[in-house]
Amino acid sequence: MSSILAEVEKSPNDDREYRAVQLTKNGLFALLVSDPAADKAAASMCVNTGSWSDGDVRGLAHFCEHMCFMGTDLFPDVNEYSAFLNAHGGMSNAFTMDVFTNYFFDVSPDSLRGALERFSRFFVAPMFDKDSTDKEIQAVDNEHSKNMQADVWREMELLRMAVNPAHPMSRFSTGNAHTLRDEPREAGMDIREILLDFHRRHYSANLMRLVVYGKEPLDVLQSSAEELFSDIENRDAVSTEDEIAVDAFLDEMLPKILYQIPVMEDRKVQALWALPSVYGEVYSKPLSYFSHLFGHEGAGSLLSYLKKKGWANGISAGQYQNHKAYSVFVCEVECTPEGMANRKDVIEAIFSYAEMLRKAGPQQWIHEELKKLKMAEFEFLQKSEPINYVMSLTMKGYKVPMPEVLKCDHIVTDFKPELLEKLAECFRPEKFIVLISAPEFEFELSDELPYYGGKYMVTPVDPELRTRWSSPAEIPDLRLPEPNPFLTDDFGLVAAPAEVAPIPSIHESGCIPNHIHDDGVIDVYYKHDDTFKIPKGAISLKLKTHEIMSSPSMQMSSELFVEMLKEALNEVGYQALCANLGYDISTGRGGITISMSGFSQKLPRLLQAILEYFASDEVLQDSKEVQQTFKRVKETLVRDLKNRNFDQPYQFCFNARNVAFVTPFWSYAQKLRCSEQLTLADVRHFRNIMMRGMRALLLVHGNFDIPKVKEVYGVLKDRLFPSLEAKVDAGAVASAPEGRVVDLLASSSEFRTENGLSYRLGVRHPNPEEPNSCCFVETYLGEYTIETWAKAKLMTNLMREPAFNQLRSEEQLGYIVHTTDTKLLHKSIFLSIIVQSNSAPPEYLQARIFSFLDKFKEELEAMDDTVFESTKAGTIEDTTKKATSLNKQSRQMWGKMETGVCMFEYKFKAARLMESITKDDMLDMLRTQFLPNRARVNVVLQVASSNFKLAGEEGYEDQLAEWKKKHEELGSSASLNAYEGGPFLDIKDPFAFKARTPLQGDFCPVEEVYDVVGSLLG
Ligand SMILES: [Zn+2]
Repeated sequence: MSSILAEVEKSPNDDREYRAVQLTKNGLFALLVSDPAADKAAASMCVNTGSWSDGDVRGLAHFCEHMCFMGTDLFPDVNEYSAFLNAHGGMSNAFTMDVFTNYFFDVSPDSLRGALERFSRFFVAPMFDKDSTDKEIQAVDNEHSKNMQADVWREMELLRMAVNPAHPMSRFSTGNAHTLRDEPREAGMDIREILLDFHRRHYSANLMRLVVYGKEPLDVLQSSAEELFSDIENRDAVSTEDEIAVDAFLDEMLPKILYQIPVMEDRKVQALWALPSVYGEVYSKPLSYFSHLFGHEGAGSLLSYLKKKGWANGISAGQYQNHKAYSVFVCEVECTPEGMANRKDVIEAIFSYAEMLRKAGPQQWIHEELKKLKMAEFEFLQKSEPINYVMSLTMKGYKVPMPEVLKCDHIVTDFKPELLEKLAECFRPEKFIVLISAPEFEFELSDELPYYGGKYMVTPVDPELRTRWSSPAEIPDLRLPEPNPFLTDDFGLVAAPAEVAPIPSIHESGCIPNHIHDDGVIDVYYKHDDTFKIPKGAISLKLKTHEIMSSPSMQMSSELFVEMLKEALNEVGYQALCANLGYDISTGRGGITISMSGFSQKLPRLLQAILEYFASDEVLQDSKEVQQTFKRVKETLVRDLKNRNFDQPYQFCFNARNVAFVTPFWSYAQKLRCSEQLTLADVRHFRNIMMRGMRALLLVHGNFDIPKVKEVYGVLKDRLFPSLEAKVDAGAVASAPEGRVVDLLASSSEFRTENGLSYRLGVRHPNPEEPNSCCFVETYLGEYTIETWAKAKLMTNLMREPAFNQLRSEEQLGYIVHTTDTKLLHKSIFLSIIVQSNSAPPEYLQARIFSFLDKFKEELEAMDDTVFESTKAGTIEDTTKKATSLNKQSRQMWGKMETGVCMFEYKFKAARLMESITKDDMLDMLRTQFLPNRARVNVVLQVASSNFKLAGEEGYEDQLAEWKKKHEELGSSASLNAYEGGPFLDIKDPFAFKARTPLQGDFCPVEEVYDVVGSLLG
């Protein structure tokens, strides 16, 4: 039934079994992965068709992707596939690119077969029935509305202006109601027929790649693949990419300058070159060589030069597209306002760098560094989530034969100097496009971007400028990078130290660190890696202080301090990043966190470098250069805060909620006002105060022994706490409270009725162009205890699919329909249903969510016991999932430490609790907490677009009446009680509300403390 291909080449660190096969009946290539230890099974099918195959109906491939989910011959129910996955701990997604459409899911390992039965029919016989076709056009249209205010989508559209109009890359790709409904209708075409025809032509077995990942043995997976996927027809279809006879980029159209005004206040220059195709260069990876150099941030780099001039904040470079006919390389510079004013020079500097590379010639040692790094990563490769893994593997199945998909991205072999020379010659202003985005230009942009809106302009490059960019000035600062000092050369494993006994966990996937030292100022936790057995590690350090949340200006000063630190560190830190040592520095409510991970050998050296800068006065000294950096960093902070005004409405809701219910918590407007005033002296003041009274929490995890931990502790103590004892004596050490939340129960009694109470906060979205409104209904479930958390998780999973089915698929309210558990700090838990819509006012969304909750009671009552039990089993599986990499395991431990409460085992305890939860328990919870009764408490958040009115605004009553009428017209599918959920307590001013409402007691969840048995670091 299928033939087995060559042996699959895998990492020596990979204990899974693989088999690559080709089905006899239809020639489909498949890769089977057997992982008996898997927490999730998964599968992905990629089809070698995408928006380039759309033809005259723009968005057709994307629409086809949506419609495959809407029922098939054997499983005709619209939500059958997603209901099955949801009931068995799974999820699914899909995306459409230019030449690929990829479908993927994960599910409980025991339910893989059932999921594959449903999934495989997508590629054999989708229904495309009329009713769901009409509804799903609305879903695509909602998705497009969500994209309209997003700059990445606008940039893609703008780039099409420089592409040959005869090439499919020049066409709008995702579709909307106009391209999918109105245009075909006007042309007298039936969209269902078009879809069937599209599916027939392009969904051919020879254009597909399948990956199946399960815990079964390979033979079992193979027969599943054979039985279920052999029905896919092989029509020997030719991929659209192979049929294109025209060039995407024409000499006569280039070079071009594209200008646009972005939605966000961002300034950037994107230099793009159309290159000869390097599609076949899988193992020489010439574009990795160039992205390493153009994107370098160390000494001598393009970015370092641009930063010194005050022109740039960041750079990135790499492959933008890689097709059989051409490749596109991009170098993107994130500019400062000054850089934007000097953009011609910025672009010239990019060409100067290219010229320097040409003169230096191809460097074999750089190639060797890249090769070693990639090899080491492959050698000690760690598992990723099965769903992401299968999704990426199917795509690789087009570049290389299936047996090579595991290694193809990791192996660099041949050094090809001639090819590098040939490509270096292409970085000239010829097949060149530069896309310039800025909020303002010295001239008017008169054209309106199709489909997305926003202003743009396209111009040729004038001859004088072209000459300048062709022979750019030499810049002596630009040179090749230094050899990387952070490259690992010792991959040895250290033995588990005898003096530390591992702490047993109640669950096999648990991991608890030992608390090995506490001197009142520095608290040290340690975990030797006994799970992954690789030479990697992770170090997390929190420098705790209560100063950050003492005022908005201290909070913003801490942000600026972290950014100044990152700037000072950048050249050194970038070398570490190149050696695959990841690091991050961030500021949060309780302190500043420094985290790093990667091969363990050089991590202490990286920590030392970071702490040296942390302690150094030079980072904030009053020099011209530091002042210039500060100006740049502050500009970025201010701009980022301004850009929060363009957040998606649902993101805006989250923030509005915290402002009203958490203290201290400041609004973006407050943060912006104070950030604009801050000086370098303010940041110095913050740092000095912080240094005087901070404490440290340290976690060292991975391939480290006790002497190594001592070294790390020593570095920390020497750099930041040279006089440890003095500080303890002075009692200057701060504790770091997380903050408090409003007591929703105490404050509501007087307003409550037999329906309970809903706190309601309505805000207008600050971006008048934003087409979407949003509503959250958050049901308060109680204080953050293990039990509340367990119930919230289970209820979320029971509700998710029905909510999606009702509010998105059935009522088509919006593209984003999301059910999730949320919390305020780590103190109280809610279950939230979130709907973002481009068609309905928030008030109406709110009514529909409350209606859904009513209806859900009946659904839950009628729910089959097996469905309930499998949903529960899936939830438990999710909760107790093993971390797939050392870094993830580390972050899980650290996440629990950082909150100040070391509840390392709470998820496992919650999972145990879940086992005994019955459907009646859930129905009880629904009745007492979600449905009208005196105890019910909700928080309702509304964000209105400029199309709609909020309660209390002029015209609101008319809007209400209009929507009531519309709703009645909708008839049976939505004939539920509209406009419920009250009584409402409207929060007019979040700060006043917070000030007059009692706060919840400083509730602290269950604590698990693993005591120090005398310091091991003494
Ligand atoms: Zn979509």
